[in-house]
Amino acid sequence: MRRNFFGFALLLLFSISAFSQITAIKAGKIVDPESGTVSSNQTIMVENGKIASIGSDIAVPANATVIDLTSSVVLPGLFDMHTHLCMDVQAARDAGRYYYTTLNDPDSFRAIQGVVNARTMLESGFTSARDVGNEGNYACVSVRRAIQRGMIPGPTFQTAGRIIAPYGGQFHLQQDKQNLAEPEYFFADTRDEMVKAIRQNAHYGATVIKIVVDDQRYIYSAEDIKFMIDEAARAGLKLAAHCWTRAGAHNAAVAGVASIEHGFDMTDEDLAIAKKNGVVLVGTDYLALDDSPTAHTQWVDRLRRASRLGVTMAYGTDATDEKAGQTRGTETMRGIDPWVEAGIAPKDILKAMTINAARLMGVEKERGALRKGMAADIIAVPENPLENVNTLKKVSFVMKNGAVIRK
Ligand SMILES: [Zn+2]
Repeated sequence: MRRNFFGFALLLLFSISAFSQITAIKAGKIVDPESGTVSSNQTIMVENGKIASIGSDIAVPANATVIDLTSSVVLPGLFDMHTHLCMDVQAARDAGRYYYTTLNDPDSFRAIQGVVNARTMLESGFTSARDVGNEGNYACVSVRRAIQRGMIPGPTFQTAGRIIAPYGGQFHLQQDKQNLAEPEYFFADTRDEMVKAIRQNAHYGATVIKIVVDDQRYIYSAEDIKFMIDEAARAGLKLAAHCWTRAGAHNAAVAGVASIEHGFDMTDEDLAIAKKNGVVLVGTDYLALDDSPTAHTQWVDRLRRASRLGVTMAYGTDATDEKAGQTRGTETMRGIDPWVEAGIAPKDILKAMTINAARLMGVEKERGALRKGMAADIIAVPENPLENVNTLKKVSFVMKNGAVIRK
């Protein structure tokens, strides 16, 4: 067993009572990522999973459960906009190719991986996430439903179902084994196939649509992508576009997708088009950590350029590799390292990890900030992250929907 399931002092309180009682959180400091400001000596009243009131002059009723975080800094729960909960890539087995992972692991096992990864992400402070596919035959939709029903702990998250891609998906198939990439991917080359792929995903529980624009020599055009944005919108879904090449990212930026994933090769011109069209960059900058020095430098530079040009960015990691002594949660938090290296201000990193991501998910009225009426998704860290963003790696308290997950 490579993972230490019992390494944390955890309080798992998933009973109904957690939602019906009144909780008062005494916060030493509260950080508001939207404004980049700190307020001191605040009290947050939590009732029915939501923030009932927040401020410095709140009377705490006698029947309230008091949580003392007076020596901590409190902030909204964090978001990861690019994860694959139902896929753990083992370098030793797969030589870094998740093609083998997806073939070796049955969907039933991948659902269990999703259960474990969802829990460790939540324990590390990620109360919301977006799963962008690679979940076999909707394994992650089942994980999401189990979390929604309170059966297991995990972030509030959206799931993409089967990734939609030109023939072959992200794999290089052999002609005598043509079926190996489905159902991992949904091959859609014609307009009819695109409609069918989006509708099937929506039908089987996807809450976001993920396309791979450019992992084959034939890539989706801006018109193809626009067509899929409109079809997804008819089902109330946003479109996330994997773009690895300059041409692919250009097409997605012109089409105006909700988010460009990766986009490592984007020019300043294409970053400007993305900004003009309201496209959010989910840069998966985490990947720079373990890649070649050349890629590392280029990808951190892209992050710096996007920030300088004012492109809206949401934090998204793509952390899938199993690492000894680490969990999906700790690896996901390690994704802040390239942001620090790029010189991004902590307040902008926090915005990317909260409010920008909440807007991308379309949940900004419910999550991503600590305000009256919003979900009680609350974390605490030892220091002020606006001064030392690495303090996020030491999350000491996690509450989701008013239930204490970690204390
Ligand atoms: Zn990914």
